[in-house]
Amino acid sequence: MKDLQIKKLMDAEKKRQKSVINLIASENYVSKDVLEALGSELTNKYGEGYPGKRYYRGCAVVDEVERAARKRALDLFGLTEKEWGVNVQPLSGSPANFAVYAALVPIGGKVMGMSLDHGGHLTHGQPVSMTGKVWKQVPYGLDKETERLDYEHIKKIATENKPALIVAGFTAYAHIIDFKKFREIADLCNAILMVDMSHFAGLVAGGEYPSPFAYADIVTTTTHKTLRGPRSALIFSKEDERKLPRKIDKAILPGLQGGPHFNQIAAVAVALKEASTPSFKKYAAQVVKNARALADELQKLGHRIVEGGTETHLLRIDTWLGGRGIGGREAADKLEAAGIIVSESTLPFDTRGPVDPSGIRLGSAAETTRGKKEKDFIAIARKVDRILRNGNREH
Ligand SMILES: *Cc1c(COP(=O)(O)O)cnc(C)c1O
Repeated sequence: MKDLQIKKLMDAEKKRQKSVINLIASENYVSKDVLEALGSELTNKYGEGYPGKRYYRGCAVVDEVERAARKRALDLFGLTEKEWGVNVQPLSGSPANFAVYAALVPIGGKVMGMSLDHGGHLTHGQPVSMTGKVWKQVPYGLDKETERLDYEHIKKIATENKPALIVAGFTAYAHIIDFKKFREIADLCNAILMVDMSHFAGLVAGGEYPSPFAYADIVTTTTHKTLRGPRSALIFSKEDERKLPRKIDKAILPGLQGGPHFNQIAAVAVALKEASTPSFKKYAAQVVKNARALADELQKLGHRIVEGGTETHLLRIDTWLGGRGIGGREAADKLEAAGIIVSESTLPFDTRGPVDPSGIRLGSAAETTRGKKEKDFIAIARKVDRILRNGNREH
């Protein structure tokens, strides 16, 4: 590479990634093949439109790329083209969610989503997000005692507010979602049920988490978290008389985006094929085992794990009220100084606010890609404990 300034930064980031313990729950390490697709000449091609219906000429090859990505996306989750449509063009998770609302909820209509502090994503209608300005969020949260989803409470909010669309699937929830209950609640108020499986899509692909497809009308997902692909997103929509796939396609183009990023779509296709292999199934199982080992050991060492544990790849530690007496920001800083990379996280009923919240979020997906097993995660838990304990101002 001739651009030495950027080359130096690329090398520095590569080195940084190799030298840290990465516990960021939304990150992962992609394969060389995914990187090769991302760095390919496919990035040079314009192709507004969809396979066979482009506004540009010379699209025969990229049509095949997009068709392959679509087919692999459906195959991976056991879906057929007759029953489900899939759009592989969203540039990332946030525009994917925005496109779904744009397609299916009238401007000013109600989107019911979990509030940010409880574990929802900004794009679930949070007021600071455009999704909360164009549409009106009906927020819901976790139960104060159990810190788990309380379906009776969710049902009450839904039937009182009658949202047009309900989002299930979160950014920091560590337990399995009962999609059937969400379906029943959506049916009670005639709402569209959208599952945002961004965090756990890789676990669904690997058979470690229930599939939402039997219950959802729409499934969105990022491709770069547990699914271990490039940064991108997919929108699945149920094929029936409502013509959801056509509405989604139109919301992406001409509604929201221009030309698809074919290098990214090719990289997604590569990752989807990787995720369909037996070795990925093993990977997904190990991700869950590792997160559990991390949570169990931290609990043994006296840390308060939000929701009382994990059934997925992620967990949240209450660093403030959980006995350590330090905020999420201070905890994350101390860990980073010791080479452990995490993200700060608000907790349900957080009293400290999003700028310096009460906890941190940890995940096992990235380090499991690097071959770590339960014993390694127990060692990581002990290291985290030592660092957080030294961060306690009272000792
Ligand atoms: C990560 C995430 C998104 C957004 O993805 P970006 O690619 O960062 O825009 C949306 N929803 C959920 C639940 C997520 O975890």
